[in-house]
Amino acid sequence: MRVGLGFDVHRLVPDRELWLGGVKIDYHLGLLGHSDADVAIHALCDALLGAAALRDIGYHFPDTDPRYKGIDSRLLLSHVVALLREHGYRMVNCDLTIMAEAPKINPHVTAMVTALAGAMACDEGQISIKATTTERLGFTGRGEGIAAQAVALIEPIA
Ligand code: MG
Repeated sequence: MRVGLGFDVHRLVPDRELWLGGVKIDYHLGLLGHSDADVAIHALCDALLGAAALRDIGYHFPDTDPRYKGIDSRLLLSHVVALLREHGYRMVNCDLTIMAEAPKINPHVTAMVTALAGAMACDEGQISIKATTTERLGFTGRGEGIAAQAVALIEPIA
């Protein structure tokens, strides 16, 4: 078995939809990025890629490539899972932490788990999503952005 770690940050700005963990959240700000900027999925993709030593999300989906402009990050996640399968691995479990002062994340966690399980074609029990504030400290605490961390365990396909 192999383990991987992922981390990502995106800036919160007006006039953008807020997508987190594959779920659209009603909020007056959204995350800025070349894709839909789903910071939680990006951290998860990097954890999975890292576990298989397959570089990182920017290597596979460069933000200079117009194909990925505005793309639904669930598609990137599905692609990462397929890439792992090609290399003979499947996910055992993953655990995410989303760091945001606002909006409240916990009411959306169940929907996020369902969305990620759909994108990864795995059981919901393989996915854990947690949320925390940073006690109003730092850029997340000031509401300037959202950060996410993920860890993923993978195993060879028998
Ligand atoms: Mg990102």
